[in-house]
Amino acid sequence: MPIISKLVNNTVAKTGITSAPPGPNDPLLRVEDLRAYFYMDEGIVKAVDGVSFEVHPGKVVGIVGESGCGKSVTMKAILQILEPTAKIVSGKVSLRMRTGSDDPNSAEEWIELTRQKPNSRIMRRIRGAEIALIPQEPMAAFSPVHTVGNQIMETILLHRKVSKAEARQIAIDVFRAVGISMPEQRIDSYSWELSGGLRQRAIIAMALSCNPRLLIADEPTTAIDVTTQAQILKLLRRLQEERQTSIIFITHDLGVIAQMADEVVVMYLGMVMERGPVMTIFKDARHPYTQALLRSIPSVQSTPRVKLPTIAGSIAHPFNRPSGCPFHPRCTRFMRGVCNTAEPRMIPLGDNHFVNCFLYSQETAPAADTAAPAAPTEQSA
Ligand code: SF4
Repeated sequence: MPIISKLVNNTVAKTGITSAPPGPNDPLLRVEDLRAYFYMDEGIVKAVDGVSFEVHPGKVVGIVGESGCGKSVTMKAILQILEPTAKIVSGKVSLRMRTGSDDPNSAEEWIELTRQKPNSRIMRRIRGAEIALIPQEPMAAFSPVHTVGNQIMETILLHRKVSKAEARQIAIDVFRAVGISMPEQRIDSYSWELSGGLRQRAIIAMALSCNPRLLIADEPTTAIDVTTQAQILKLLRRLQEERQTSIIFITHDLGVIAQMADEVVVMYLGMVMERGPVMTIFKDARHPYTQALLRSIPSVQSTPRVKLPTIAGSIAHPFNRPSGCPFHPRCTRFMRGVCNTAEPRMIPLGDNHFVNCFLYSQETAPAADTAAPAAPTEQSA
């Protein structure tokens, strides 16, 4: 019996996780009502507070929101690499996992990641071989005292049953696949000898080296210039199409989302405000926050020297999250006595489109057309 199958079966026995095989239309990753809080001396920060979404095989899910909205903490919670002060308090993350190493044709079983210990064998197996991370800052991801090739080989040897020579050849091949010229020589470089663009390609090569089925790209183009950004986005799109790898793409840039994503999740202060197919979100966004984000994107049709609309106020301090809807102090559709007294619930609007706003719940929706943004109303903190 393959080792991973034994691990899964042992885990099933120990934790009671269902081993029913996934169906053909099931997602690769399912996140359900996930909550991860930071316990600090100053108080509790609800960094992720009831997040749900799915990632289907071969699809790109873009997670968008301002800094501090919980995008990266959601990913760390999925991978169980949270800081010591943070804890998953509830919710469920399930992954369709191959039972036979990296064989693409092996059987699959559901594994509930939220029931695994962060340092367990199974989580170490999942990180790298099933889910790989492309971090924001590649300089920090590579050790400066080892060559990038050795670090990639180390990952390959950890997850795949190959010899050192084979691992080196795999590393050279992934270097070539991500468009690094002279891969046989560049593999022996140190990270500080590579340009920003090459370092980012090398980190993508490391992430791909064990054929993961899900890549988490955490703002992978933030630290590089605009031309290189465009090349890296094109590369990720090509690799995703060729390998049918699923990607969770974290960014604050809606332009990047438009280019990359099939589905969009819009987050604000640890909660999902809206989610749906990318075309629906760009053409028919319903949440006032999503609408405001879309209005603030510069366009070639923008009138020169006219200021772009911005969202009034600033994101609340995480220790001081507003009551009710977390967006209410900045919302132009604020309804006093409703939005500041209770938290809205996610409402399905059809076509896999969901919105978390009182404007769309039957009990609280105003009679007027709710899709069009209204003039600012009196607001409450
Ligand atoms: Fe605005 Fe109220 Fe909707 Fe929140 S629930 S986004 S405050 S209208």
